[in-house]
Amino acid sequence: MFKSLLLSQSNDKVSAQITEMDESKLPEGDVLVKVDYSTLNYKDGLVLNGLGGLVRNYPHIGGIDFAGTVESSDHKDFKPGDKVVLTGWRVGEAHWGGYSQKARVNGDWLVPLPEGLTPRQAMAVGTAGFTAMLGVMALEDHGLTPDQGEVLVTGAAGGVGSVAAAILAKLGYSVAGSTGRADTHDYLRDMGVTTIIDRSELNEPSKRPLEKERWAGCIDAVGGTTLARALAQMQYGASVAAIGLAGGNKLDTTVIPFLLRGVNLLGIDSVMCPTAKRLRAWQRIATDLPMEKLENMTSEAKLQDLPQLGKDILAGNVRGRVVVDIA
Ligand code: NDP
Repeated sequence: MFKSLLLSQSNDKVSAQITEMDESKLPEGDVLVKVDYSTLNYKDGLVLNGLGGLVRNYPHIGGIDFAGTVESSDHKDFKPGDKVVLTGWRVGEAHWGGYSQKARVNGDWLVPLPEGLTPRQAMAVGTAGFTAMLGVMALEDHGLTPDQGEVLVTGAAGGVGSVAAAILAKLGYSVAGSTGRADTHDYLRDMGVTTIIDRSELNEPSKRPLEKERWAGCIDAVGGTTLARALAQMQYGASVAAIGLAGGNKLDTTVIPFLLRGVNLLGIDSVMCPTAKRLRAWQRIATDLPMEKLENMTSEAKLQDLPQLGKDILAGNVRGRVVVDIA
Protein backbone atom coordinates (compact mmCIF):
# COMPACT_ATOMS: atom_id res chain seq x y z
CA MET A 1 0.00 0.00 0.00
CA PHE A 2 1.10 3.57 -0.64
CA LYS A 3 -0.29 7.09 -0.32
CA SER A 4 -1.78 9.22 -3.10
CA LEU A 5 -3.61 12.52 -3.17
CA LEU A 6 -6.80 11.44 -4.87
CA LEU A 7 -9.08 14.02 -6.51
CA SER A 8 -12.79 13.22 -6.67
CA GLN A 9 -15.63 15.13 -8.24
CA SER A 10 -19.11 15.51 -6.86
CA ASN A 11 -21.73 18.07 -7.91
CA ASP A 12 -19.13 19.74 -10.15
CA LYS A 13 -16.86 20.32 -7.16
CA VAL A 14 -13.43 18.73 -6.98
CA SER A 15 -12.03 17.70 -3.60
CA ALA A 16 -8.72 16.14 -2.60
CA GLN A 17 -8.08 13.41 -0.07
CA ILE A 18 -4.97 11.48 0.90
CA THR A 19 -5.88 7.86 0.16
CA GLU A 20 -4.21 4.48 0.67
CA MET A 21 -3.76 2.89 -2.76
CA ASP A 22 -2.42 -0.37 -4.11
CA GLU A 23 -0.61 -0.99 -7.38
CA SER A 24 -3.57 -2.75 -9.00
CA LYS A 25 -5.41 0.61 -9.09
CA LEU A 26 -2.67 2.37 -11.05
CA PRO A 27 -3.22 2.87 -14.78
CA GLU A 28 -1.50 0.75 -17.41
CA GLY A 29 2.09 1.51 -18.38
CA ASP A 30 5.42 -0.19 -18.82
CA VAL A 31 7.37 1.48 -16.00
CA LEU A 32 6.49 1.60 -12.30
CA VAL A 33 8.23 4.44 -10.46
CA LYS A 34 8.63 5.04 -6.73
CA VAL A 35 8.11 8.80 -6.59
CA ASP A 36 10.47 10.77 -4.35
CA TYR A 37 9.51 14.34 -5.21
CA SER A 38 6.87 16.15 -7.17
CA THR A 39 6.23 19.87 -7.45
CA LEU A 40 3.64 22.60 -7.91
CA ASN A 41 3.09 24.39 -11.21
CA TYR A 42 0.35 26.78 -12.27
CA LYS A 43 -1.30 23.91 -14.16
CA ASP A 44 -1.27 21.79 -11.00
CA GLY A 45 -3.21 24.62 -9.37
CA LEU A 46 -5.82 24.40 -12.12
CA VAL A 47 -6.09 20.60 -11.76
CA LEU A 48 -6.28 20.72 -7.94
CA ASN A 49 -9.19 23.15 -8.27
CA GLY A 50 -10.96 21.30 -11.10
CA LEU A 51 -10.42 24.26 -13.47
CA GLY A 52 -9.32 24.66 -17.08
CA GLY A 53 -11.07 21.51 -18.35
CA LEU A 54 -7.76 19.63 -18.02
CA VAL A 55 -9.12 16.51 -16.28
CA ARG A 56 -11.94 14.57 -17.90
CA ASN A 57 -12.14 11.51 -15.67
CA TYR A 58 -12.30 11.15 -11.89
CA PRO A 59 -11.04 9.90 -9.53
CA HIS A 60 -7.74 11.46 -10.60
CA ILE A 61 -4.21 11.87 -9.32
CA GLY A 62 -2.64 15.22 -10.20
CA GLY A 63 1.01 16.24 -10.31
CA ILE A 64 2.33 17.07 -13.80
CA ASP A 65 5.93 16.35 -12.76
CA PHE A 66 7.75 13.79 -10.68
CA ALA A 67 11.23 12.46 -9.99
CA GLY A 68 11.89 9.03 -8.55
CA THR A 69 13.37 5.56 -8.89
CA VAL A 70 12.26 2.83 -11.29
CA GLU A 71 10.79 -0.09 -9.36
CA SER A 72 9.95 -2.35 -12.33
CA SER A 73 10.17 -1.87 -16.06
CA ASP A 74 9.26 -3.56 -19.35
CA HIS A 75 10.74 -0.61 -21.27
CA LYS A 76 14.03 -1.09 -23.09
CA ASP A 77 15.58 2.13 -21.76
CA PHE A 78 14.87 1.70 -18.06
CA LYS A 79 15.64 -0.89 -15.38
CA PRO A 80 14.93 -1.11 -11.65
CA GLY A 81 17.02 1.35 -9.67
CA ASP A 82 17.28 3.96 -12.46
CA LYS A 83 16.65 7.53 -11.35
CA VAL A 84 14.12 9.19 -13.66
CA VAL A 85 12.26 12.46 -14.22
CA LEU A 86 8.92 13.06 -15.86
CA THR A 87 7.47 16.37 -17.02
CA GLY A 88 4.58 16.92 -19.40
CA TRP A 89 2.99 14.43 -21.82
CA ARG A 90 -0.32 15.33 -20.13
CA VAL A 91 0.64 13.31 -17.06
CA GLY A 92 -1.29 14.73 -14.10
CA GLU A 93 -4.04 15.82 -16.55
CA ALA A 94 -5.12 13.03 -18.91
CA HIS A 95 -3.03 10.42 -17.03
CA TRP A 96 -2.47 9.94 -13.32
CA GLY A 97 0.50 11.93 -12.09
CA GLY A 98 3.10 12.48 -9.41
CA TYR A 99 1.03 13.28 -6.30
CA SER A 100 1.41 9.66 -5.29
CA GLN A 101 4.16 7.56 -3.78
CA LYS A 102 4.00 5.33 -6.87
CA ALA A 103 3.22 6.09 -10.51
CA ARG A 104 2.89 3.77 -13.50
CA VAL A 105 3.59 5.44 -16.85
CA ASN A 106 4.67 4.96 -20.44
CA GLY A 107 8.49 4.74 -20.33
CA ASP A 108 8.74 6.92 -23.46
CA TRP A 109 7.72 9.85 -21.27
CA LEU A 110 10.62 9.45 -18.85
CA VAL A 111 14.08 10.95 -19.07
CA PRO A 112 17.05 9.83 -16.98
CA LEU A 113 17.69 12.10 -14.01
CA PRO A 114 20.09 14.68 -15.49
CA GLU A 115 23.67 14.24 -14.35
CA GLY A 116 24.54 16.71 -11.59
CA LEU A 117 20.97 17.06 -10.31
CA THR A 118 19.33 15.34 -7.36
CA PRO A 119 15.66 14.27 -7.66
CA ARG A 120 14.76 17.18 -5.35
CA GLN A 121 16.64 19.67 -7.53
CA ALA A 122 15.01 18.27 -10.67
CA MET A 123 11.62 18.93 -9.10
CA ALA A 124 12.68 22.37 -7.89
CA VAL A 125 13.17 22.98 -11.61
CA GLY A 126 10.03 21.06 -12.68
CA THR A 127 7.93 21.98 -15.71
CA ALA A 128 8.14 25.68 -14.83
CA GLY A 129 11.95 25.74 -14.84
CA PHE A 130 12.26 23.34 -17.75
CA THR A 131 10.01 25.60 -19.82
CA ALA A 132 11.97 28.68 -18.77
CA MET A 133 15.05 26.94 -20.20
CA LEU A 134 13.19 26.14 -23.43
CA GLY A 135 12.33 29.84 -23.63
CA VAL A 136 15.95 30.91 -23.18
CA MET A 137 17.06 28.37 -25.81
CA ALA A 138 14.47 29.71 -28.27
CA LEU A 139 15.70 33.29 -27.77
CA GLU A 140 19.29 32.16 -28.29
CA ASP A 141 18.29 30.23 -31.42
CA HIS A 142 16.87 33.50 -32.75
CA GLY A 143 20.11 35.35 -32.23
CA LEU A 144 19.96 36.76 -28.70
CA THR A 145 23.35 37.51 -27.15
CA PRO A 146 24.16 39.30 -23.88
CA ASP A 147 25.59 42.42 -25.57
CA GLN A 148 22.24 43.36 -27.13
CA GLY A 149 20.64 44.88 -24.04
CA GLU A 150 18.15 44.02 -21.31
CA VAL A 151 15.97 40.92 -21.41
CA LEU A 152 12.52 41.32 -19.88
CA VAL A 153 11.07 38.50 -17.74
CA THR A 154 7.39 38.93 -16.89
CA GLY A 155 5.78 37.31 -13.84
CA ALA A 156 9.34 37.35 -12.56
CA ALA A 157 8.68 36.18 -9.00
CA GLY A 158 6.72 33.13 -10.17
CA GLY A 159 8.18 29.73 -11.03
CA VAL A 160 8.89 30.25 -14.74
CA GLY A 161 10.05 33.82 -14.12
CA SER A 162 12.42 33.05 -11.23
CA VAL A 163 14.18 30.25 -13.10
CA ALA A 164 14.37 32.30 -16.32
CA ALA A 165 15.89 35.24 -14.42
CA ALA A 166 18.48 33.05 -12.69
CA ILE A 167 19.52 31.34 -15.94
CA LEU A 168 19.73 34.58 -17.93
CA ALA A 169 21.79 36.28 -15.20
CA LYS A 170 24.17 33.32 -15.06
CA LEU A 171 24.60 33.53 -18.86
CA GLY A 172 25.64 37.18 -18.55
CA TYR A 173 22.40 38.89 -19.60
CA SER A 174 21.06 42.06 -17.99
CA VAL A 175 17.68 41.02 -16.65
CA ALA A 176 14.64 43.22 -16.10
CA GLY A 177 11.84 41.57 -14.15
CA SER A 178 8.24 42.70 -13.96
CA THR A 179 6.34 41.85 -10.82
CA GLY A 180 3.15 42.86 -9.04
CA ARG A 181 4.57 42.10 -5.60
CA ALA A 182 6.65 44.79 -3.93
CA ASP A 183 7.76 42.33 -1.25
CA THR A 184 9.62 40.27 -3.84
CA HIS A 185 12.09 42.98 -4.94
CA ASP A 186 14.98 41.79 -2.74
CA TYR A 187 14.27 38.23 -3.79
CA LEU A 188 14.33 39.20 -7.47
CA ARG A 189 17.64 41.02 -7.06
CA ASP A 190 18.99 37.87 -5.45
CA MET A 191 17.84 35.93 -8.56
CA GLY A 192 19.89 38.30 -10.73
CA VAL A 193 17.26 40.87 -11.77
CA THR A 194 18.87 44.31 -12.03
CA THR A 195 15.87 46.38 -13.22
CA ILE A 196 12.53 45.89 -11.50
CA ILE A 197 9.41 46.91 -13.42
CA ASP A 198 6.07 47.27 -11.68
CA ARG A 199 3.50 44.97 -13.26
CA SER A 200 1.10 47.93 -13.65
CA GLU A 201 3.46 49.50 -16.20
CA LEU A 202 2.72 46.62 -18.56
CA ASN A 203 -0.88 45.70 -17.89
CA GLU A 204 -2.48 48.87 -19.27
CA PRO A 205 -3.14 48.69 -23.04
CA SER A 206 -0.78 50.82 -25.10
CA LYS A 207 -2.23 53.74 -27.06
CA ARG A 208 0.33 53.20 -29.85
CA PRO A 209 1.28 50.07 -31.81
CA LEU A 210 4.97 50.82 -31.28
CA GLU A 211 6.62 52.19 -28.17
CA LYS A 212 10.26 53.03 -27.44
CA GLU A 213 12.52 50.08 -28.36
CA ARG A 214 13.56 48.71 -25.03
CA TRP A 215 14.03 44.95 -24.72
CA ALA A 216 16.57 42.72 -26.47
CA GLY A 217 14.44 39.68 -25.62
CA CYS A 218 11.51 38.67 -23.45
CA ILE A 219 10.42 35.59 -21.53
CA ASP A 220 6.71 36.05 -20.96
CA ALA A 221 4.83 34.05 -18.33
CA VAL A 222 1.87 36.43 -18.18
CA GLY A 223 0.28 36.78 -21.66
CA GLY A 224 -2.67 39.14 -22.17
CA THR A 225 -2.02 42.88 -22.15
CA THR A 226 1.47 42.36 -20.72
CA LEU A 227 2.49 40.38 -23.81
CA ALA A 228 0.92 42.98 -26.12
CA ARG A 229 2.87 45.76 -24.35
CA ALA A 230 6.11 43.78 -24.49
CA LEU A 231 5.69 43.24 -28.24
CA ALA A 232 5.37 46.98 -28.77
CA GLN A 233 8.56 47.60 -26.73
CA MET A 234 10.89 45.08 -28.36
CA GLN A 235 14.07 46.19 -30.09
CA TYR A 236 14.36 45.78 -33.85
CA GLY A 237 14.57 42.04 -34.73
CA ALA A 238 14.15 40.90 -31.10
CA SER A 239 12.13 37.88 -29.96
CA VAL A 240 9.55 37.15 -27.29
CA ALA A 241 9.18 33.62 -25.92
CA ALA A 242 5.47 33.25 -25.09
CA ILE A 243 5.24 30.76 -22.24
CA GLY A 244 2.31 31.58 -20.01
CA LEU A 245 -1.09 33.08 -19.44
CA ALA A 246 -1.09 33.96 -15.72
CA GLY A 247 -2.52 37.37 -16.68
CA GLY A 248 -4.88 36.17 -19.41
CA ASN A 249 -5.05 34.20 -22.64
CA LYS A 250 -6.33 36.97 -24.93
CA LEU A 251 -3.83 38.79 -27.10
CA ASP A 252 -5.03 42.15 -28.35
CA THR A 253 -2.24 43.60 -30.46
CA THR A 254 -1.43 44.78 -33.96
CA VAL A 255 0.86 43.25 -36.57
CA ILE A 256 2.96 46.45 -36.60
CA PRO A 257 5.80 45.19 -34.32
CA PHE A 258 6.19 42.18 -36.64
CA LEU A 259 6.08 44.22 -39.85
CA LEU A 260 8.04 47.32 -38.91
CA ARG A 261 10.47 45.92 -36.37
CA GLY A 262 10.80 42.29 -37.44
CA VAL A 263 9.84 41.19 -33.93
CA ASN A 264 9.43 37.42 -33.46
CA LEU A 265 6.76 35.85 -31.27
CA LEU A 266 7.99 32.37 -30.35
CA GLY A 267 5.53 29.84 -28.94
CA ILE A 268 6.97 27.59 -26.23
CA ASP A 269 5.39 24.24 -25.38
CA SER A 270 6.84 21.94 -22.75
CA VAL A 271 4.18 19.23 -22.78
CA MET A 272 4.79 17.54 -26.13
CA CYS A 273 8.39 18.75 -26.48
CA PRO A 274 10.35 16.03 -28.35
CA THR A 275 12.72 13.89 -26.28
CA ALA A 276 15.95 15.06 -27.95
CA LYS A 277 15.14 18.67 -27.12
CA ARG A 278 14.12 17.67 -23.58
CA LEU A 279 17.50 16.06 -23.01
CA ARG A 280 19.26 19.16 -24.35
CA ALA A 281 17.22 21.45 -22.10
CA TRP A 282 17.90 19.34 -18.99
CA GLN A 283 21.61 19.33 -19.80
CA ARG A 284 21.56 23.12 -20.12
CA ILE A 285 19.71 23.38 -16.80
CA ALA A 286 22.41 21.33 -15.09
CA THR A 287 25.11 23.69 -16.37
CA ASP A 288 23.39 27.11 -16.61
CA LEU A 289 21.10 27.29 -13.58
CA PRO A 290 23.07 28.13 -10.43
CA MET A 291 22.07 25.54 -7.84
CA GLU A 292 22.35 27.95 -4.90
CA LYS A 293 19.84 30.25 -6.60
CA LEU A 294 17.57 27.28 -7.28
CA GLU A 295 17.71 26.41 -3.57
CA ASN A 296 16.96 30.02 -2.57
CA MET A 297 13.86 30.11 -4.77
CA THR A 298 12.53 26.77 -3.50
CA SER A 299 10.23 25.96 -0.59
CA GLU A 300 9.19 22.49 0.48
CA ALA A 301 5.72 21.03 1.04
CA LYS A 302 3.98 17.71 1.68
CA LEU A 303 1.04 16.04 -0.05
CA GLN A 304 -1.40 17.43 2.52
CA ASP A 305 -0.33 21.03 1.75
CA LEU A 306 -1.31 20.79 -1.92
CA PRO A 307 -5.00 21.77 -1.76
CA GLN A 308 -4.09 25.12 -0.18
CA LEU A 309 -1.03 25.60 -2.41
CA GLY A 310 -3.22 24.95 -5.46
CA LYS A 311 -5.32 27.96 -4.47
CA ASP A 312 -2.26 30.08 -3.66
CA ILE A 313 -0.59 29.58 -7.04
CA LEU A 314 -3.73 30.55 -8.97
CA ALA A 315 -3.93 33.70 -6.85
CA GLY A 316 -0.33 34.55 -7.82
CA ASN A 317 0.83 34.13 -4.22
CA VAL A 318 3.50 31.47 -4.64
CA ARG A 319 7.04 32.79 -4.83
CA GLY A 320 9.56 30.85 -6.90
CA ARG A 321 9.22 27.08 -6.84
CA VAL A 322 7.72 24.52 -4.48
CA VAL A 323 8.95 20.94 -4.20
CA VAL A 324 6.63 18.31 -2.74
CA ASP A 325 8.29 15.62 -0.68
CA ILE A 326 6.28 12.52 -1.55
CA ALA A 327 8.44 9.71 -0.16
P1 NDP B 1 3.40 31.08 -11.08
O1 NDP B 1 2.07 31.34 -10.47
O2 NDP B 1 4.50 30.58 -10.23
O3 NDP B 1 3.92 32.43 -11.78
C1 NDP B 1 3.08 33.28 -12.47
C2 NDP B 1 3.43 34.71 -12.13
O4 NDP B 1 2.71 35.58 -12.99
C3 NDP B 1 3.01 35.12 -10.74
O5 NDP B 1 3.94 34.78 -9.76
C4 NDP B 1 2.92 36.63 -10.90
O6 NDP B 1 4.24 37.16 -10.86
C5 NDP B 1 2.42 36.80 -12.32
N1 NDP B 1 0.97 37.02 -12.37
C6 NDP B 1 0.00 36.29 -11.80
N2 NDP B 1 -1.21 36.81 -12.06
C7 NDP B 1 -0.98 37.91 -12.82
C8 NDP B 1 -1.84 38.88 -13.41
N3 NDP B 1 -3.16 38.85 -13.26
N4 NDP B 1 -1.28 39.88 -14.14
C9 NDP B 1 0.08 39.94 -14.30
N5 NDP B 1 0.94 39.04 -13.74
C10 NDP B 1 0.40 38.04 -13.02
O7 NDP B 1 3.15 30.11 -12.30
P2 NDP B 1 4.24 29.31 -13.18
O8 NDP B 1 5.49 30.08 -13.20
O9 NDP B 1 4.22 27.88 -12.81
O10 NDP B 1 3.56 29.43 -14.62
C11 NDP B 1 3.49 30.68 -15.27
C12 NDP B 1 2.64 30.58 -16.53
O11 NDP B 1 3.33 29.78 -17.49
C13 NDP B 1 1.28 29.92 -16.32
O12 NDP B 1 0.32 30.57 -17.11
C14 NDP B 1 1.50 28.50 -16.81
O13 NDP B 1 0.32 27.89 -17.23
C15 NDP B 1 2.47 28.75 -17.94
N6 NDP B 1 3.29 27.60 -18.28
C16 NDP B 1 3.34 27.20 -19.58
C17 NDP B 1 4.12 26.17 -19.96
C18 NDP B 1 4.23 25.81 -21.41
O14 NDP B 1 4.58 24.67 -21.74
N7 NDP B 1 4.01 26.76 -22.29
C19 NDP B 1 4.87 25.36 -18.98
C20 NDP B 1 4.86 25.92 -17.64
C21 NDP B 1 4.05 27.00 -17.32
P3 NDP B 1 4.62 38.41 -9.93
O15 NDP B 1 4.15 38.07 -8.57
O16 NDP B 1 6.11 38.53 -10.07
O17 NDP B 1 3.89 39.58 -10.52
